[in-house]
Amino acid sequence: MRPKILEPLYYNIQNISGIGPYYTSLIKNLVGDRYKDILLHMPTSSIKRKIINNVLESQINQKIIFTGIITSTWTTYKKPRMSIATVKFKETNISIIYFNVKKIWFEGLFKKGNELAISGTLQKRNSKYQIVHPDYVENNIKTRIPLFETLYPLTKGLNKNKLSSVIQKVINVLPSFEEWIDLKLIKSKKWPKFDEAIKSIHFPRNQKSLDQYPIFLERLAYDEALSRQLALNLIRVHKRKKIKKAKNSKAFLRKKLSSLLPFKLTKSQNNVLLDIYKDLNSNEKMSRLIQGDVGSGKTIVAFFSLLYVVESGYQGALMVPTEILSQQHYNFFKKYSDGLGIKIELLIGKEKNLKKQKILSKVSNGLVDIIIGTHAIIQKNVKFKNLGLVVIDEQHRFGVYQRLALLQKSPDADFMVMTATPIPRTLILTNYGDMDLSIMNEKPLNRPLIKTITVNNNKINDVISSISNSLKNGEQVFWVCPLVQESENIDLIAVETRAKSLNNYFPNQISVIHGKMSYEEKENNLNQFIKSQKPILVSTTVIEVGIDIPKANIMIIEHAERFGLSQLHQLRGRIGRGMKDSICILLYDKKLSNVAKNRLTTMKNTNDGFLISEKDLELRGPGELLGTRQSGEQSFRILDLNTHKDLVEIANNEAKLISNKNPQLLGSQGSALKNLLYLFDQDKAVELIKIG
Ligand code: ADP
Ligand code: MG
Repeated sequence: MRPKILEPLYYNIQNISGIGPYYTSLIKNLVGDRYKDILLHMPTSSIKRKIINNVLESQINQKIIFTGIITSTWTTYKKPRMSIATVKFKETNISIIYFNVKKIWFEGLFKKGNELAISGTLQKRNSKYQIVHPDYVENNIKTRIPLFETLYPLTKGLNKNKLSSVIQKVINVLPSFEEWIDLKLIKSKKWPKFDEAIKSIHFPRNQKSLDQYPIFLERLAYDEALSRQLALNLIRVHKRKKIKKAKNSKAFLRKKLSSLLPFKLTKSQNNVLLDIYKDLNSNEKMSRLIQGDVGSGKTIVAFFSLLYVVESGYQGALMVPTEILSQQHYNFFKKYSDGLGIKIELLIGKEKNLKKQKILSKVSNGLVDIIIGTHAIIQKNVKFKNLGLVVIDEQHRFGVYQRLALLQKSPDADFMVMTATPIPRTLILTNYGDMDLSIMNEKPLNRPLIKTITVNNNKINDVISSISNSLKNGEQVFWVCPLVQESENIDLIAVETRAKSLNNYFPNQISVIHGKMSYEEKENNLNQFIKSQKPILVSTTVIEVGIDIPKANIMIIEHAERFGLSQLHQLRGRIGRGMKDSICILLYDKKLSNVAKNRLTTMKNTNDGFLISEKDLELRGPGELLGTRQSGEQSFRILDLNTHKDLVEIANNEAKLISNKNPQLLGSQGSALKNLLYLFDQDKAVELIKIG
């Protein structure tokens, strides 16, 4: 049950007089329609006005308030049509100027001889004072024009005054909460109380409260960070309490696979595996994130982990985002499965065919040790005999609560997620804070060099002739285009068009894959590339995630300026996996924005995925980076992950302390924190506490 004190904050704004369904729906689309949504809608800027006694040069470009008498008005006929009123204030004339306003309206308001209260930005032009489009013109000169005012993100049909009136109503019922932030921290940061911060951010009373805006906002950003971190840490504690049977293995299969592999594991791979084995062999459920750069060798880590549970008598599942990748992993595992004496199956596609039914029945009878596939492998119709481990490869799109649901579904299963490319630490905390973390920061030795160059699109012919040389040396080329079909509006070069034009230079050497092909077609075309029958693969970003074709050593990305950094890094990660030195060519359009330039330079300068991910967060923001912008999984109202990194760290430490010391959120501190969780919609975590 929701704490009583919060009740008013869940009221719907529709009941506020003067709002009604029309404005409610506008505001709802902008921020939400509960009182608390309105409270947490932060202004983007503020205005300060000054009542003046006489006009001074120093007031130019400032917002002034004055009362004056209209001495003349006129409207020009040329376009743009100007309506001008001269207002006499003390001994100075000020022109009030409008462009393209209705004459009737203008003449109704500005009547010669009338006295008006006016506010706007003072300007001087040709030694005359003027105000263009004033903010306020009041017939009743006793009207109080606000000295301080905040500006909000608005939406079409909703003006500032309407929104302000709603905010005012809501603030009137804002309760004063028991403090949930540690008092020492409050003191050192000079933060105000929650309600005080909210009030003076929305309605700054004086210069001082305007000046303190960043501090007030910081307090609220911290509140939001703390609520998120606390929720995640409570979930983490909750998961730990999930008892399962410890899995032990004699390491026979591990030794066997090691002897079959053509390489030795890196130190990173071994360390991460030790973390994993320890978790598997404990009574607490594993919930672990494996964070590793492209090419650091995560697949084999998944394989060893799955073998461990198989040897302990369980089944394992490996889930990947695409069918192509499922097939690739399956092929790789299959190379060793006979030698290891284990049974592996691939499960893809939605159709209910006979083969699929057969596989499903084998899975439920325990005749399959490891199953590999897309989302299909965790659907309801897949019944495992005894699932011991779920590995999610390269999969970013699971939210915290989806992961939790997955983990709760199978009593003895452990759970691990492997990232596609590194994720910045702040995002790890805010999105994966419910999991333990292992980092693979080392790539296998003797990896060839990857050189990255940028080439202007108008030199594409040079690129084509250099490919021609490379093909003579038996090299293989990925050619990535951004879109599938030629679109009139967007001048991206479609895969099909590109394949056709390349075919003129390299007849019968081009293979194509894109997302709209059937699985069979994709697989067939990819195989022609893998076998070098067709040494150029023209594709969309479907090859972005996970594809491992060590022989291919040339990557060409068209319109590289349109990709995000992590995506470019992920694409480039397809090369530099084999023996040959590799080259990545980023083709760009001459109209480069600064951000795009910055991205391409970063790509040229570094191959370090950890660095690149930090830069990507800086340039693009978290939603784009995690691919969750649409899903709403991770969006903060106030917290900005670029500017408030330190707050996330502090909040995380605090949340860890709380969730260890007081995981049930008991006592007065506990109930204060529950209020916080509800305020920022993290109350699902509170429900977990009750489940125990
Ligand atoms: P990613 O971390 O990007 O998923 P993969 O698991 O696809 O990387 O591994 C990249 C390539 O490196 C594969 O061809 C894999 O077989 C190989 N590989 C993995 N571990 C090692 C190692 N320790 N030494 C040499 N090659 C390795
Ligand atoms: Mg991979």
